[in-house]
Amino acid sequence: MIEKRDFYIDGAWTAPQAGRDYHVIDPSTEEPCAVISLGERADTEAAVAAAKAALPGWKAVSPAERLAYVEKIYEIYNARAEEMAQAMSLEMGAPIDLARKAQTGAGSYHIKCFIDAAKTFNWVHPLGDGTPGAMIAYEAVGVVGLITPWNWPMNQVTLKVIPALLAGCTMVLKPSEEAPLSSILFAEFVHQAGVPAGVFNLVNGDGAGVGTQLSTHPDVEMISFTGSTRAGKAISKAAAETLKRVVLELGGKGANLVFADADDDAVRRGVVHMMENSGQSCNAPSRMLVERPLYEKALEIAKATAEGTRVGSPREAGDHIGPVINKSQFEKIQGLIESGIKEGATLLAGGLGRPEGLNKGYYVRPTVFADCTPDMTIMTEEIFGPVLSIMPFDTEEEALAIANDTPYGLTNYVQTQNPARANRVIREFHSGMVVANGKSRGAGAPFGGVSSSGRAREGGRWGIEEFCDVKSIGGWFE
Ligand code: NAD
Repeated sequence: MIEKRDFYIDGAWTAPQAGRDYHVIDPSTEEPCAVISLGERADTEAAVAAAKAALPGWKAVSPAERLAYVEKIYEIYNARAEEMAQAMSLEMGAPIDLARKAQTGAGSYHIKCFIDAAKTFNWVHPLGDGTPGAMIAYEAVGVVGLITPWNWPMNQVTLKVIPALLAGCTMVLKPSEEAPLSSILFAEFVHQAGVPAGVFNLVNGDGAGVGTQLSTHPDVEMISFTGSTRAGKAISKAAAETLKRVVLELGGKGANLVFADADDDAVRRGVVHMMENSGQSCNAPSRMLVERPLYEKALEIAKATAEGTRVGSPREAGDHIGPVINKSQFEKIQGLIESGIKEGATLLAGGLGRPEGLNKGYYVRPTVFADCTPDMTIMTEEIFGPVLSIMPFDTEEEALAIANDTPYGLTNYVQTQNPARANRVIREFHSGMVVANGKSRGAGAPFGGVSSSGRAREGGRWGIEEFCDVKSIGGWFE
């Protein structure tokens, strides 16, 4: 069993002052694979104090030097990518090829995008309104608390740690206690890169403990959080007393509008995207709305695609999907599949129980429901499993109204070859992100939502700005 009880505080691996042992469960075996500690207040205090002490020194380091540290981290991250893939595959059950490409790759991609953004980031520049000496300066927010989930561990950690470092913030990272091994490894990378002691600190813990201690701490100026809408609300309330900046990336219930003139691969692509990472993505296109003339054909494709989605061990190579993270998620997903059946949706593929041949591990059958209605639980609740809900629509207005009728607003999708309609729908979606016809949003584009999905903008230039305060200056000497 892997033993990783220490925290990374003030540049050194430090035994917990009052930690409790916590078993990390391998979701493919349901057995413990590692033991970590859950920190207590004394550990949080030590980490925040280290970050506070390191702040003046780190702020005084030039942006170019901070960038050089990040470039070093990038080099180490890529050189040790296989270790990272193995850590994530073990802790959260991503099949090893997915762990190598998408999971580890996401971290590398974000670091590179931040490096590119930092190279052209204007830390101090004229306001530009013709007023001599009017300047805008971007300055570090201060000590920041970073709280991350288990579903895309390095994606989230790099989206927070890297811009915080570039902006001149010092930080305490609390990764998900369900998937902490990748973050512990990432802390090794930061150490290996020679980042000065106290700038980056890691304390493992749970939400009620270290999470809440960071959210309420008077010396923490900002919390950057990715996770559930439930926890996002709790953090906002906890942080209110000390008036922190709270930046939230929360859940989603993405709509995918498939018009009759969609490209031939649109439906298959939507199902594959839904099933990726066992459906554990906040931006999953979990509601597929299909224009009526294409509906029957779309159901055939969706059924075939779901039935062709292999489920298997994270240790095996291949493009199959793995288990979901833990027992409670497994049970929650089973309950939602049951609700779909009870509420009258047509079960097109998958269903209750584990896939054939898999008797242990939190494996879920790739499931597709057809003939859904907007009020069904599977159409309104974030499932966070490999479960797609499909329904027909007749008009663009109707489809948009259903798409936007959700408290969430993270990513929506549209499939049509009609340019005017595509652009109209893109603008009408109430969401922070839109992907049309499977096209990339582009390197360095911001990731974030609106409403109950939170309003963070992570990645690239916008991601760096999140960790800065804007100082507005008059009377600057030229
Ligand atoms: P979670 O909210 O249970 O936990 C996320 C993190 O918050 C963990 O580190 C946890 O320990 C901590 N936490 C929990 N309660 C807390 C509290 N009261 N105070 C402080 N910290 C607390 O979420 P999860 O189950 O780990 O992740 C799944 C959720 O994350 C899904 O809802 C998903 O949609 C969301 N998510 C959103 C995005 C995005 O960018 N919008 C990305 C990935 C995941």
